[in-house]
Amino acid sequence: TVAAAINETSPEKVLAPVLSAFWDEPNSWTLETYRRHGGYEGLRKALAMAPDDVIALVKDSGLRGRGGAGFPTGMKWQFIPQGDGKPHYLVVNADESEPGTCKDIPLLFANPHSLLEGIVIACHAIRSNQAFIYLRGEVVPVLRRLHHAVAEAYEAGYLGRNVQGSGFDLELTVHAGAGAYICGEETALLDSLEGRRGQPRLRPPFPAVAGLYACPTVVNNVESIASVPAILTRGKDWFRSMGSEKSPGFTLYSLSGHVANPGQYEGPLGITLRQLLDISGGMRPGHRLKFWTPGGSSTPLLTDEHLDVPLDYEGVGAAGSMLGTKALQCFDETTCVVRAVARWTEFYAHESCGKCTPCREGTYWMVQLLRDIEAGKGRSEDLDKLLDIADNVNGKSFCALGDGAASPIFSSLKYFREEYERHITGQGCPFDPALSTAWA
Ligand code: NAD
Ligand code: SF4
Repeated sequence: TVAAAINETSPEKVLAPVLSAFWDEPNSWTLETYRRHGGYEGLRKALAMAPDDVIALVKDSGLRGRGGAGFPTGMKWQFIPQGDGKPHYLVVNADESEPGTCKDIPLLFANPHSLLEGIVIACHAIRSNQAFIYLRGEVVPVLRRLHHAVAEAYEAGYLGRNVQGSGFDLELTVHAGAGAYICGEETALLDSLEGRRGQPRLRPPFPAVAGLYACPTVVNNVESIASVPAILTRGKDWFRSMGSEKSPGFTLYSLSGHVANPGQYEGPLGITLRQLLDISGGMRPGHRLKFWTPGGSSTPLLTDEHLDVPLDYEGVGAAGSMLGTKALQCFDETTCVVRAVARWTEFYAHESCGKCTPCREGTYWMVQLLRDIEAGKGRSEDLDKLLDIADNVNGKSFCALGDGAASPIFSSLKYFREEYERHITGQGCPFDPALSTAWA
């Protein structure tokens, strides 16, 4: 229905929902339902193709990684050296945990076979006989459903020895992580999968060269891999008929916060938040948008001035932010931006793995300053101090977590510095009399 509405508002971007097409059907997660909707057709086509031709097709489709960074998927597959005598691995990153990001878990819950089919296609392409899914351990119902789907796929001969009589063997292991945000960083994930404490490794070498057990490894996001079967079935031109030249295709947008109807919305890349809000019922009644994140809290926040920014990598980048995971968290005028940023920063401080000093120390001190400002104990010099610390974290930390922690601080001070100042001059939060002396 969302796709239909998008088709109505933008007839040039014709789309039928793909990943979410039958999420609301009873037993949508079973092999029977998946096959009834044409499931495993893409695999049949892929197995009849040479592995390099599958890579070329995915590369030509322009599919970009849906985990946040948007790296071209086919190019990543092409990096895997061939004839090196080493095993190759595919690791699916299902450790979704960016605040606001909530697309892979519903996808796995409602339609796990789209991921499994994509995994078999990808492994055929990169010539891998062993794949892993690294899932957040807390989501036990999803873990159970995934185990069930994997068992169904083995039973039906989509996994295991001699997949569909093709001579290709593939084993798939589902691994439940222990719930650390940093284990979503691809190299920390690999350390965790190897049984070590999850902390980022130095890159380069990238996992494509030295990944799991020091062997060439493709690490892909759930949604990226689940998008592959449809490209095999319907072709690259169909995929490229949506989105833009540099950001083609369809994707899942996760709408959350002060909106009338939060949830997953599937549409072409390049639609706008205004379109999504129009289609989904808008902000909650009687309220207006104040600020939002395009791709979770690590992406610089934007304001109501940016409602018409195309939600693709280039459009959001030109507006000074990043598309990230397309986690559209919308906050209305009742939200204190200082409070929101303080809560996010507490999250990053808690999840900092402690390996490098700028992030370990910087996130701690940013929390102290934000808590003081929020509670009306801030001083006028604190804002410059906050910016200075954020500047020493951003780009100087070992992995992207540090940059993510600095991002809401920079962007909120860019757009809402006056609101920070009001907390200091008014000795408390203008939105919350309980936290204020002067504003009460
Ligand atoms: P990155 O741009 O460094 O790398 C992206 C991918 O491309 C990686 O798989 C990397 O191995 C590969 N790559 C990049 N350059 C390469 C090269 N020269 N050779 C071979 N491979 C190469 O981004 P990142 O640090 O992996 O991820 C940051 C992103 O993660 C952010 O954009 C953020 O939005 C996202 N994120 C997502 C979540 C979530 O829950 N999904 C959580 C936190 C952050
Ligand atoms: Fe660990 Fe933070 Fe440094 Fe990343 S930036 S390595 S999470 S301390």
